[in-house]
Amino acid sequence: MTAVLSSQTERQRIVLQGTVQGVGFRPTVYRLAQRMQLSGWVRNTIAGLEIEVEGESERLSQFLVALHAATPPAAVITEQQTSRVAPNRKIGFEILLSVNDDPSGPRSAAILPDIATCSQCLADMLDPQNRRSAYPFTNCIQCGPRYTIMLDIPYDRPNTTMQTFTLCSSCRREYESSHDRRFHAQPNACAVCGPKLWLSPIAAEGTSVFSELATALERGHIIALKSIGGFQLLVDARNPAAVARLRERKRRELKPFAMLMPSMEVVCRYAEVSAEEERLLRSPAAPIVLLQPKNESDIAPEVAERSPCIGVMLPSSPLHHLLMAHYPFPLVATSGNCAGEPIAIDNEEALVRLGNLADIFVLHNRPIARPCDDSVVRLMDGPHILRRARGYAPLPVIVPFDLRPVLAVGGHLKNTVAIGFGKQVWLSQHIGDLDSPEAREAFERTIDDLCKLYRFRPEIIACDLHPDYASTQWAEQHARKAGVPLVRVLHHQAHVAGCAAENGLKTPYLGVAWDGAGLGADGTIWGGEFFAADQNGFERVASLRPFALPGGETAMRDCARPAAGLLWKTLGPDKARQFLQPQVCAMLEHEINAPQTSSVGRMFDGVAYLIGVAEHNLFEGHAAMCLESAIGQIKTDEAYTVTAANGIGDWASLVGDIRAELASGVAVGMISAKFHNALADWILAVAQITGSRDVVLSGGVFQNAYLTRRSRRLLENRGFNVFTHRQVPANDGGLALGQAVLAAMIN
Ligand code: ZN
Ligand code: ZN
Ligand code: FE
Repeated sequence: MTAVLSSQTERQRIVLQGTVQGVGFRPTVYRLAQRMQLSGWVRNTIAGLEIEVEGESERLSQFLVALHAATPPAAVITEQQTSRVAPNRKIGFEILLSVNDDPSGPRSAAILPDIATCSQCLADMLDPQNRRSAYPFTNCIQCGPRYTIMLDIPYDRPNTTMQTFTLCSSCRREYESSHDRRFHAQPNACAVCGPKLWLSPIAAEGTSVFSELATALERGHIIALKSIGGFQLLVDARNPAAVARLRERKRRELKPFAMLMPSMEVVCRYAEVSAEEERLLRSPAAPIVLLQPKNESDIAPEVAERSPCIGVMLPSSPLHHLLMAHYPFPLVATSGNCAGEPIAIDNEEALVRLGNLADIFVLHNRPIARPCDDSVVRLMDGPHILRRARGYAPLPVIVPFDLRPVLAVGGHLKNTVAIGFGKQVWLSQHIGDLDSPEAREAFERTIDDLCKLYRFRPEIIACDLHPDYASTQWAEQHARKAGVPLVRVLHHQAHVAGCAAENGLKTPYLGVAWDGAGLGADGTIWGGEFFAADQNGFERVASLRPFALPGGETAMRDCARPAAGLLWKTLGPDKARQFLQPQVCAMLEHEINAPQTSSVGRMFDGVAYLIGVAEHNLFEGHAAMCLESAIGQIKTDEAYTVTAANGIGDWASLVGDIRAELASGVAVGMISAKFHNALADWILAVAQITGSRDVVLSGGVFQNAYLTRRSRRLLENRGFNVFTHRQVPANDGGLALGQAVLAAMIN
């Protein structure tokens, strides 16, 4: 570049898209421009972040390089456009108010998830000299609520539930000072000007709140606390009577409770924690992480009885930190609802709905814009999200195709919904099972909310093939009303397409979809499926040999039922009869209420029953979890055989071998390992026949860490590329992503 050119003044417009709002991007740009003596401005728009900078052309290119180097840690740039505009010779750089240039068009600015309290804000709160000492709504540009306080895009204070709080002069100074870490921190607040905390029915305010709470917890009282994304119920996890009382009141019999623990040191007292698991616990999302419990423990058995894992999280908000500072012991922390209902978010609503559940309420006057449960993550071959909510939602998933504007309504269990357009899909936070009218209301509210927030109108609605899913029924009605086409997507194809899409993978690939149950193309229940996917669609190239589920729905919980189905075919009716109840035999014999299934999930239940590690699914996936955990530290390459012929994986010899080895005294853990290994071998065998180099593993069965790791290793050793879920759950919580992609893909 010549000297003449370099001294020329130029002006450039830069538009950044992705997660660029609410992460401290504008202050970063401002400081950078100041330092480099460039003039211009920066502002949030509905599309993302817009910058205009003016100065010597050489310095402008340096600015672009420096901008990328200085990108805030939580920001993700998905697209950047730069163009030249006419210089205007104005001096100085400023942060402009946000603009809504096209209020009718869809909005693509990513909304940031809620971010756990940063170490600096924590230090502020714990410092008695600091003006935010013990202030439970402390935050800065690096941390604090985002998604759960946003009422509209762009992310500015008037568009959040902080809109009614007027900054005091000290907070305003921080908010306006480019050198302060609270520069443009939208929820910035202090005890003078910000939200306030109080208890009910006890009268307490300020710091006395926490000593009152500590006393209540010590006495075994149940606390309903208004958290980031809704109310949580808290009780001392070491107090069996208190935990039992919570179970009874919540009508939750055996499903394990997660725990809130004050520090890593305490977590390590109760669980085995790897470095990677510690990183997850401490991450900005601060999810519940499933850990292996230590044997010696004073945790009440009622917390997670008969579960091989415990779910643990660290404090994620100032309120949790302050509570834990006053009561540094493990607490049960569960969503503020009765079994099957959505989480309560509103003070009045909570006082009514949770009135019979909690003894004390911790309330405050910062409204929650939308419910967001705690997320659940398990470390497998990398972190794997089992429930995607606080800390992750609503980060968009970038897919390798252009999508027509699509609304995907997900499945029936662990429901999430999604909207997609362009190359992005926004998956909602976890909504839950759609069995209750309250849950179905929450489902509709979430769809409404997503569409409003992003000014989105679908041109296509996608749903599952299953006519009885509440989500399908809503989609049918709504598509008719709105006059848009409805696309019914096959359950297991949605699973694998979602996994492929989040990995940026296009066809051809081999998709393995293993789960508990989903309606198949032939009207039977599928769940052990292999698809060769190419540009023409999916071909079901292999599946598990079907077996009967006597009792239908009952067989989902009672593991003896799928076991009976397996034995009936393995041993033949005459021999099987000796082991089975007459009522079950009658169903199998006359094929009455005994639907056929190719579900690998149900085979896990059957095998768990046969070898005696689980009789019932106390919660979804429980028996499979027990079977996996039975392996313990056993390392073996021995395996039973799933016989693969003509696209059918036959388990008859496998079931026979399991029974024989059990009878001859082989350890249950060893049998379980050989069962898992057989399934991984089968995947490899099908992959070798199909020939595609890319293999996608999806469906709830792949929440099994042993199976996923083993399959990955076998396949990678033979040169296959293996893709698993990273950003969305492998279970039905990820279905909406696959539905959106398959229904609306343009190229
Ligand atoms: Zn902070
Ligand atoms: Zn203030
Ligand atoms: Fe499924």
